[in-house]
Amino acid sequence: MRSMARVLTGAAVALGIIGGVPTIAPAQGPAAAGPLKLSEHVTVVLQGQPGAQSNVGIVVGSKGALVIDSGLGPRNGAILANVARQLAPGRATLHVAATHFHPEHMMGESGFPASAIILRSKGQQEDIDATGAAEGRGVVALFKGMPNRAADMEGAIYRTPDVTFAGDALIDLGGTRVRLMELGPAHTRGDIGFFIEGDGVVFTGDVAMSTPIGINSARFTAAPTSTRVWLASLERLMELKPRHVVPSHGPLGDASMIDKHRVFMTAVRDRVSALKKQRHTADQIASTVTTELAAKYQVPEKIVADAARLFYEELP
Ligand SMILES: [Zn+2]
Ligand SMILES: [Zn+2]
Repeated sequence: MRSMARVLTGAAVALGIIGGVPTIAPAQGPAAAGPLKLSEHVTVVLQGQPGAQSNVGIVVGSKGALVIDSGLGPRNGAILANVARQLAPGRATLHVAATHFHPEHMMGESGFPASAIILRSKGQQEDIDATGAAEGRGVVALFKGMPNRAADMEGAIYRTPDVTFAGDALIDLGGTRVRLMELGPAHTRGDIGFFIEGDGVVFTGDVAMSTPIGINSARFTAAPTSTRVWLASLERLMELKPRHVVPSHGPLGDASMIDKHRVFMTAVRDRVSALKKQRHTADQIASTVTTELAAKYQVPEKIVADAARLFYEELP
């Protein structure tokens, strides 16, 4: 860590930022080829646009900017850093944070200028350390082995964070504040959601998307998925009453995207609970719940079965 680094613990902590003059990018419609201006302070580089292997957020305030997810590897990170510079020219302090440690979300930080301030939660650092990601094991080995990812992974490293925080944190960018919220262990131990106050925009990472992602990712997280925590995080995200929801992957939406996921998880929990009380086995329950709920909630069968098994383990 650099000398300016500090460890933030406990609840919300405001980070003072010294910066330059803000410039807001001109409004663009959803059909525009470039990044999408979503709200007063938030622009999204959509997955598939240059530099973005997930939906990337750029939040611009009067004193600084925050990039949410940095792309895959230094080449993509440099593209996103350039977009952020264009949206926040001058001496605005550039912050970089990630929804979680998986390479396409965090390893673009190696392409950002040395002056960028890298934020990381303790949970994210635990994920990196426990899975050996910094040494090229686990999910990093997986990505390096993918024919369509290997070139982007060249030179990709996890930078030493400048700021580490535990629990939640609050960043004041000048005229807008961003709340960083611990959501894991869900998709990973270190899942972080981002709420841009005032703009009503929430970035949900891989925790809430239009199609729930598999929840048996034990190889790629420091702590096993907790369905209890995951469901509680979906409820917490709903309490924010967001106007815009930006998942890491797939289409953008509104609060109904989170609620759909919440309703699905609740249904799985309640059904598993009832069947477990009737002394059905885990295999029987996974099969029954998948048959009953996959089509009903339009969730892939494997994801329903995984969720049922996890609830089976966690419920009394
Ligand atoms: Zn992921
Ligand atoms: Zn992802």
